[in-house]
Amino acid sequence: MKNLTLKEFDNDIAEAISKELERQRTHIELIASENFVSKAVLEAQGSILTNKYAEGYSGKRYYGGCENVDVIESIAIERVCKLFNAKFANVQPHSGASANLAAYNAILMPGDKILGMSLDAGGHLTHGYSVNFSGKMYQAVNYGLKADGYIDYDKLEEIALNELPNVIVAGASAYPRVIDFKKFREVADKVTEKAGRKCYLMVDMAHIAGLVAAGYHPNPIEYADIVTSTTHKTLRGPRGGIILTNDEALAKKINSSVFPGCQGGPLMHVIAAKAVAFKEALDPSFKDYAKQVILNCKALASELNKLGYNLVSGGTDNHLILVDIFGSVGITGKKAENILHAVNITANKNAIPGDTQKPTVTSGLRLGTAAMTTRGFKEEDMIAVARFIDRALKNKDDEEKLNEIQKEVIELMKKHPYLED
Ligand SMILES: *Cc1c(COP(=O)(O)O)cnc(C)c1O
Repeated sequence: MKNLTLKEFDNDIAEAISKELERQRTHIELIASENFVSKAVLEAQGSILTNKYAEGYSGKRYYGGCENVDVIESIAIERVCKLFNAKFANVQPHSGASANLAAYNAILMPGDKILGMSLDAGGHLTHGYSVNFSGKMYQAVNYGLKADGYIDYDKLEEIALNELPNVIVAGASAYPRVIDFKKFREVADKVTEKAGRKCYLMVDMAHIAGLVAAGYHPNPIEYADIVTSTTHKTLRGPRGGIILTNDEALAKKINSSVFPGCQGGPLMHVIAAKAVAFKEALDPSFKDYAKQVILNCKALASELNKLGYNLVSGGTDNHLILVDIFGSVGITGKKAENILHAVNITANKNAIPGDTQKPTVTSGLRLGTAAMTTRGFKEEDMIAVARFIDRALKNKDDEEKLNEIQKEVIELMKKHPYLED
């Protein structure tokens, strides 16, 4: 085997990666589920740990030579338990969707009933959407929002007591407000009592995990039987998933559900990178980061409001906002996404409650501040971002104006480098 560099051996891929780095450096990243990882996280994830098979768990592996990866996985578990004040953790799920698959598999039988937030209200595919495994393998029922954009807790209870689900899933991909986990727990307990068998509460904190870790969103572990999460959104780690619980018997079921239930060998390089990200999140500086994410989001929300844009629920408590772009300026979410792309601003279209547009078009735009806060953006930068967005949308047919805005965006990004020494 020749030890050629990527560039020497495969320039097609090397060049595409290098162009992607350039794109990340020169664009304002507002996709609410994205972030920029540190050099240390990248180094762990790009390490030789990718060579190692380690089916099983620390001390109980199916392969030899696991003494070093055992150390890594044990450290990752210890850190994530400390970070979220949990007793047990599984750090092997390959992604958020895999974590949810394994969590359901630990507590449900095929045909059991899931009550999750509907996709158009901000829920995730894995919370019972028809084309997802969660909607095919289980019976799925939904709850949603009130007209004001907040979760309809009364209706949630009504649906839960009618449907008697086996699990209620709290958590979302596009919900800008604090989630009342205590209320969810009360509803799950009422279902348990009425049904005469357990109704679990599972919280999927994929989006808000970083805010929870820093203490800026209530911690679901105090209320939920199972907490799942991604590690790559506000938590700012490598792409992956985790499952937490305080219940020892459940922890055992979760472990056998992840392996051998749903996965084969764990991605030890990713688990090492998760451990590094957990160490970063345990550092006091991560609290400052998470606080700034929220301050930045409030600044973006308030400037867009001033400029005449309506936000679902009127504002935000976390790292994201949902803008009713069609209702505000008569431009669909899809069109807005394309216009912003032309000025180096990356965001995604998103359905809003009562959306009149098709799911592939939508009326809304989802904007998040986790990624740009990592790049050092403060409130004044977010105000500038709101003005860029407004100017771009209002000059959508003026190519010269759009070019001018794009240049200003690139200038701003030059002051916020990524991985440059
Ligand atoms: C992102 C997300 C997931 C899925 O994560 P993947 O790593 O993309 O599989 C699951 N649940 C919620 C609420 C999410 O936002």
